[in-house]
Amino acid sequence: MSTQELPTRAKIVVIGGGVGGTSVAYHLAKFGEKDVVLLDRSDLTSGSTFHSAGLVGQLRADPTLTKMNMYSVELYRELEKSETPASWRECGSIKIASSKERMAEIKRQIGWAKTFGLDLVEISNDEIKELFPLINLEGVVGGCYMASDGQVDPSQLTGALAAGARRGGVKILTHTRVLAINTKNNRITSVTTDKGEIQCEIVINCGGMFAAEIGRLVDVRIPIIPMSHQYLITENFLADQAKFLPSLRDPDNLIYFRQEVKGLVMGGYERNSKPFTATASTFDQIPADFNSKLLPDEWDRFEEIAENAAKRVPVMGEVGLKNFINGPEGFTPDNEFCLGETSVGGFYVAAGFCAHGIAGAGGIGKVVAEWVIAGEPTMDLWHMDIKRFSDAYKSPKFTLERVTENYEAYYDIHYPGEERQSAREENKSPIYNWHKENGAVFGEKAAWERVNYYLNPNEKQGDDSLRPNGWVGKYWSPAVALEHHATRNSAGLFDESSFAKIKVSGARAGEFLNLICANNVVKGIDKTTYTQALNKKGGIVSDYTITQVAESEFLIVTGTAFLNHDKGWLEKQMRENNFDQVEISDITKELACFGIWGPNARKILQKVTDFDLSNQAFGFMNSKMIKIKDISLRATRITYVGELGWELYIPAKDGLSVWLAILDAGKDLGIRPCGYRAIESLRLEKGYRAWAGEINTETNPYEAGLGFAISSKKENFIGKASLDAIKGKLSSKLTALIFSDIKDVAMGNEPIFINSKVVGRVKSAGQGYTLNKAIAYAYLPTEHTSPGTSVEVEMFGVKKVATIWPSHSLIQRVGR
Ligand SMILES: Cc1cc2nc3c(=O)[nH]c(=O)nc-3n(C[C@H](O)[C@H](O)[C@H](O)COP(=O)(O)OP(=O)(O)OC[C@H]3O[C@@H](n4cnc5c(N)ncnc54)[C@H](O)[C@@H]3O)c2cc1C
Repeated sequence: MSTQELPTRAKIVVIGGGVGGTSVAYHLAKFGEKDVVLLDRSDLTSGSTFHSAGLVGQLRADPTLTKMNMYSVELYRELEKSETPASWRECGSIKIASSKERMAEIKRQIGWAKTFGLDLVEISNDEIKELFPLINLEGVVGGCYMASDGQVDPSQLTGALAAGARRGGVKILTHTRVLAINTKNNRITSVTTDKGEIQCEIVINCGGMFAAEIGRLVDVRIPIIPMSHQYLITENFLADQAKFLPSLRDPDNLIYFRQEVKGLVMGGYERNSKPFTATASTFDQIPADFNSKLLPDEWDRFEEIAENAAKRVPVMGEVGLKNFINGPEGFTPDNEFCLGETSVGGFYVAAGFCAHGIAGAGGIGKVVAEWVIAGEPTMDLWHMDIKRFSDAYKSPKFTLERVTENYEAYYDIHYPGEERQSAREENKSPIYNWHKENGAVFGEKAAWERVNYYLNPNEKQGDDSLRPNGWVGKYWSPAVALEHHATRNSAGLFDESSFAKIKVSGARAGEFLNLICANNVVKGIDKTTYTQALNKKGGIVSDYTITQVAESEFLIVTGTAFLNHDKGWLEKQMRENNFDQVEISDITKELACFGIWGPNARKILQKVTDFDLSNQAFGFMNSKMIKIKDISLRATRITYVGELGWELYIPAKDGLSVWLAILDAGKDLGIRPCGYRAIESLRLEKGYRAWAGEINTETNPYEAGLGFAISSKKENFIGKASLDAIKGKLSSKLTALIFSDIKDVAMGNEPIFINSKVVGRVKSAGQGYTLNKAIAYAYLPTEHTSPGTSVEVEMFGVKKVATIWPSHSLIQRVGR
């Protein structure tokens, strides 16, 4: 029970005293923030933390998360030496492959672990047996071992972090429940607790599975669902003198093991998952007294896991059971954390740790504390940023379906181009039915259905001999190459209606955007500008085009998945830079958007409009209101594929008429409807950047080859001071690598070697069908970027030779 008095004010209030909240508080104190209060409605660790299995693995599918978990291990080692140790045991971990595909995954992971300097090594079956003598090797194809992985006692870890936070000046008050979060002008002002009110500037919601409930206090949707999660603990049976076992994961059989005293902990991810309290029609309703509690055992749902465990470790069928744990844990719709500032100024979240919160806690605490102090993330945290979630997650049904699918597929191998099966058909283009009737294969992005390619007739007419080797080939279609060539040789028609469209208006809209953007975007009505928005360090926060549509009105067009992220950044800057009169609105669904690109694009479009489309009358990066079939629409001369063409922004209701008119006009000129997979190939070949692909907050425009989009005339914009300091002193550069065999397609994160030394990792990759080569992009140290340099890229354990291409653009096109 807390005996401290509730302070009446604090700069920062952290809600939640689990491993997440205490780590955030620990790091705030470590970085010098003393005016911090941590509140928990019950005791520390009484949420999910106390019943955690405590495994700590470092290598994850995402480079940022891997770096965060590596930091966790460093921290837990340090804490072990402190006066409040966390019971960290560096026992190592084994992952085994019970299938050939898994072994391929392991080989791939060993490759990219090299880019972090992680000690992951392949081991033979004999070595597996030596390290984990209880194993039955039947069906084991191979495995890998990481000596620096380990396990920790979650409650002791939380205690150690809390002690460190207290030493740094943080006040911790337990049995203090937050009842309301108060705001003014969409900014945090205070929290109301059952013991009184605390005035504050910043609230960090570290509520774990309760985070969605806490978010609802301030009308912020946090798509986290508590899911029941089970494991068992055997009686002690290991010999006293036996060597401590490494943890063991057998993902093909959905199971993991770790040693607990002289017994084993065994758990896994059930195929028949179960939410704790959420349903398809209601948000979670966790009982107000659900602390330090568990759920009833659900042995029937655990049976498959128990059977698999007894096959892999036969002693599991013989030893007695000491404990069976069924505890709820907050899961997100994509199994990634939910971090960062929400749409309410000063209201942050650090929750939804998806059963890897103990492994992640050190890193989470560090990056969130840095984020709060700097006001922006210090690493590329896009995959964990709360703003990655589209508004579709406001629906309990949509969220539950996605969380369920991802929970059940937690241990599955994920292949490039794989699409989600649940919660589909949420947002559709106005001409969705036409696509469906005409053989489209859809993919999903941010809850939008988008055409990947057309099965019929494009796949049937395509060339299957170009199918990439290995995993990339699995969901590949020959239609993509056909659509690529159609665009390069005649014209492709693309439905990009899902593009996020943001209207920025008001008397100071231009001034505001010129503060946000690195380029000058106030060039006159009907002028379009390509620009980046930067953070204070000069890292790229957003990458979009802006068209000035009136004196004080601008249209921003950005990627489908980036609506809340990019709009959120604009709103934050508006709040913090006193641009209250500027209006920012989402108009995505009001407008269909079609791209027509290719050498015949002008001829085709000219057939359906009286507007003069000649280069003299309608130059590149110009935008005009034109008419097609008496429908007024905005045409912007721009390209994302490296071909002559336009993007058309059409009132949604008129989309189909315009689409059909263009198709009809182009039928004798080789027009083809094409999908997003072709865009990806075309833009990679042309060297156009994609945010969250080659560029992000950790990269600056100079190293990304985007210096041309920085205005040299503007005296000020966010990030300018840092860019000025960086200019001319680049240590790395985004570089194109070419593989002679078009079928050698990388997936991302592969290590790149020069003279057997790792010099970088692959950022993005694909096939260039015009070039007839496979392409990869990577940031390489500038001294290694000379054209023609030969490098080796390790794919699934095999080194493939690639050559550095002389320029960013692999093909020289764009007709006038
Ligand atoms: C069965 C199981 C096994 C697991 N195994 C592992 C593992 O092996 N490795 C691993 O890395 N992770 C594992 N995890 C996951 C890990 O335990 C969690 O990710 C982590 O403990 C979550 O910590 P947290 O701080 O986010 O949430 P919690 O520990 O739930 O803390 C949230 C706190 O917020 C408080 N709170 C809520 N509402 C309010 C309010 N209104 N006012 C004040 N306080 C409030 C609660 O009382 C609670 O103490 C496992 C989880 C489970 C369930």
